[in-house]
Amino acid sequence: MHTLDEILGEAQAAFAAVDSLPALDQAKARFLGKNGLITEQMKGLGALPPEERKAAGARINQVKDQVEALLKARREAIQAAQLARQLKEESLDVTLPGRGEAMGGLHPVSRTLARIEQLFASIGFAVADGPEVETDFYNFTALNIPEDHPARAMHDTFYVEGGRLLRTHTSPVQVHYMQQHQPPLRIIAPGRVYRCDSDVTHTPMFHQVEGLWVDEQVTFAELKGVLADFMQRFFERDTMPVRFRPSFFPFTEPSAEMDIGCVICDGKGCRVCSHTGWLEVLGCGMVHPNVFGHVGIDAERYQGFAFGLGVERLAMLRYGVDDLRLFFENDVRFLKQFA
Ligand SMILES: [Zn+2]
Repeated sequence: MHTLDEILGEAQAAFAAVDSLPALDQAKARFLGKNGLITEQMKGLGALPPEERKAAGARINQVKDQVEALLKARREAIQAAQLARQLKEESLDVTLPGRGEAMGGLHPVSRTLARIEQLFASIGFAVADGPEVETDFYNFTALNIPEDHPARAMHDTFYVEGGRLLRTHTSPVQVHYMQQHQPPLRIIAPGRVYRCDSDVTHTPMFHQVEGLWVDEQVTFAELKGVLADFMQRFFERDTMPVRFRPSFFPFTEPSAEMDIGCVICDGKGCRVCSHTGWLEVLGCGMVHPNVFGHVGIDAERYQGFAFGLGVERLAMLRYGVDDLRLFFENDVRFLKQFA
C-alpha cells in the first residue's frame, strides 16, 4: 500500500516527465482515474475503523487537491509551450520577397522616346504636345502644303468625321506651339502619327519626334551641330560620320535628308545600309517663311530649323531589330529582352 506522501511525490514526478496533453491524461488516470491510486485510497476508507475515517478522508482529499493542482499547473505549462512552438513554426516573415515575380520593363519604343527626350532636354529643348486628331489647316495648310499641293499625295491620310484627319506627322505641333509662344523657341514634339500604309517597313501607326528651334540667329550650322551631336550621343559613339543631302519638304527651305555612317557595319557596307555604308535617319531644314506667316511670326526677324525623325527606325538601329512589326505584335518573348 502506497502512503499518501509517496503518491504525491510520484504524481509530481509523473506529471513532470510528460510533455504532451495525451501523455498527461494517461498520467492523470494513474492517480485520479477509476482505478487510480487516489481513488483506491478512497475505496480503502471503508475498511478503516469509523473514528479514523474522517481524518483519513480529509487527508486523502487534501492530497487529491494537491495532485489536481499539480495537474492543472502542468497542463497550463504544456499548453503554453505548445502555443509558443506553434507561433514560432507558423510565423510569416512579411518582409521576405515573393517567389517568381517577373520584372516588368518599358516597351523599346517608350525607352527610345525617353532617351531622345532626355538627350534633347540636356541641351535646352522643352517637350511639347498636341492633338492626334487634326484639322486640314494644322496638318497641311499651315505647313505650306495647300489644297492642290502634290505633297499631299505622299501622305496616305486617314480622314475621320467632320473633315478632320489623323495627323500624318508631328509637324502640326510646331504650328500650335508657335501660335501660342513667341521666339526664342526650342522644342521637341514626340508622339504617334498615322498613315494609311502597311507592309514590312510601314505600320499604320508609328512614332515621330519633331524638333524646332527658332531665334534671331539660328542657322544651318546650328541644325548640323545639334543633330550630329544628338546622333553621336544616341548611338554612344566617339565619332559619327554624318552627311546632309539636298531634299524637299514643303515646310522647310532649304531642306535636307541626314545620313549617318552605318552603325551596324561601321561604314563597311551591309544588308541594313544596302551596302552603301550610310543610313538615312531624318529629314530637316530651315523653317519656310510661309510657315512663319501662318502663325504670325516675323520671318524678317526670326529664322529657325525643324527636323522630324522616326522613333521606330532609331530603335531598330540601336537594338538591332530587323522587322518593324515586332514592335507592335507585343510578343512577351521579344519585349522582355528590353526589360
Ligand atoms: Zn551597314
